[in-house]
Amino acid sequence: MNGKADAVVVGSGPNGLAAALRLAAAGLRVQVLEQADRPGGGMRTEELTRPGYRHDVCSTVQPMAAAAPFFREFDLPSRGVRLVQPEISYAHPLDGGRAAVSRRSLEETAAGLGTDAAAYRRLFEPLVEHGTDVIDFFLTSRLRRPPTKSAPQIVHFALNGLPNVRWLARRYFDTTEGQALLAGAAAHGMLDLARPLTASLGMLLGMLAHHVGWPLVEGGSQALADAMVAALEEQGGEVVTGHEVTDLREFEGVPAVLLDTTPRAFVAMAGDRVNEGYKKWVSRYKHGPGVFKVDWVLSEPVPWTNAEVRRAGTIHIAGTLEETLAGEAAPAHGRLTDKPYVLAVQPTVVDPTRAPEGGHIFWAYVHVPHGSDGDMTEAIENQVERFAPGFRDTVVERVTKNAVQMEAWNPNHVGGDISNGEASFRQMLARPVPRWNTYKTPVPGTYLASAATPPGPAVHGQCGDNAARVALREVFGVRKVPPLRPPAR
Ligand SMILES: Cc1cc2nc3c(=O)[nH]c(=O)nc-3n(C[C@H](O)[C@H](O)[C@H](O)COP(=O)(O)OP(=O)(O)OC[C@H]3O[C@@H](n4cnc5c(N)ncnc54)[C@H](O)[C@@H]3O)c2cc1C
Repeated sequence: MNGKADAVVVGSGPNGLAAALRLAAAGLRVQVLEQADRPGGGMRTEELTRPGYRHDVCSTVQPMAAAAPFFREFDLPSRGVRLVQPEISYAHPLDGGRAAVSRRSLEETAAGLGTDAAAYRRLFEPLVEHGTDVIDFFLTSRLRRPPTKSAPQIVHFALNGLPNVRWLARRYFDTTEGQALLAGAAAHGMLDLARPLTASLGMLLGMLAHHVGWPLVEGGSQALADAMVAALEEQGGEVVTGHEVTDLREFEGVPAVLLDTTPRAFVAMAGDRVNEGYKKWVSRYKHGPGVFKVDWVLSEPVPWTNAEVRRAGTIHIAGTLEETLAGEAAPAHGRLTDKPYVLAVQPTVVDPTRAPEGGHIFWAYVHVPHGSDGDMTEAIENQVERFAPGFRDTVVERVTKNAVQMEAWNPNHVGGDISNGEASFRQMLARPVPRWNTYKTPVPGTYLASAATPPGPAVHGQCGDNAARVALREVFGVRKVPPLRPPAR
């Protein structure tokens, strides 16, 4: 970029790019600086194993991108980004060839739960009918949350979502299937499932399966990142890769700096420009368990015993509610377990373009203690074998990343924590520090814009968009939010 930018964004994850696009919509000159050699952060797709096999290194399943206000306005189809839907959003295999499955249709999902059908409808129907309002309420910044037309549904969500998922699963469901289906979705949150608020993620993700589905981006999540970069470049913005930012003094004279980083990275970059009080709060901000991930090339699709699981995009592998609770309690309390909760995705079942013709990819991760360098390959493959005997015979190649390698790959994954800070009750109320406007930092013109701010992790772009709106108002005096620019024809 010739001359100084009006705004610099550090980090090109979904939040960094969303922030950049909102700033560019106001006519500002925006530069994004990214330490990696490719933009996208958690949306990167790489040939991790063999040429032509496109593995999403992080996010693959994109219900948030389908539902979030930022991406609805960005309008994925108009940017050439195609979402492809699995026939079954997520499946939870059980012993004896049984499985609980979530389909796009709430009615069909409920019907599959036998005696729990009415309870499933009672829990999810109010949310699905008001899906857009519910999503907008929880993803929009509390600084500008509009009055909702769906207050009773929000209250229904809050009352059921505030407790832990063990309580909610037992309160609503009697069948092993109903209980496991809810707990499997809630376990995405990387918390001990006996903790408060864990029910909320089970409800939110369960609701999204019927509201927008659990789609994948055709060709890999990188296509979404590339579309965001292209949109920025059309407006004169630029993304510079291979540029790690370590000191905010690099930006003398730049009016606004937005950080798609950890809060700790901000404190390190700011040095003595940050007061002791803020530093103390950041030092108390907790990063939770890490992740151990395996990416495979397979000779054929995973041979799940249950035929419906073969058609699912996402699979939650743990067994019953009790086994899921135990699988998640272990990493939260600093232990590795040989019976982990495994979160798996079979991309080529949904999107065959990700591998050469007839090729198959598959990935799975487990939660592990913070900073663990333990190898969970065998535990993961044992869990898959339990519900898909013969799985190991299909493995052609595998690559793994432990929690330490996760952080080396992306500095936002401290100790392997892919949530950029535990999504606990306390840290969701005050993320990352107890202030009303948590995007603001003590350094004038510098804002936090990553998943360490509300509404937290996942590919929705809302943290970045929220932070950019604050910067536009405070630094540039822009009160009327500029709409995102449509694609150039
Ligand atoms: C294995 C895995 C699977 C996941 N699956 C899903 C999923 O299916 N669906 C979903 O919605 N979410 C998923 N997530 C979570 C999702 O990827 C994140 O919540 C999301 O990417 C967070 O976005 P972000 O912009 O805040 O940060 P990131 O996407 O982490 O981007 C931050 C960027 O900033 C860069 N950066 C950091 N510090 C600096 C610095 N000092 N200088 C320059 N650059 C810097 C990093 O290199 C990175 O590119 C997954 C994550 C992982 C790891």
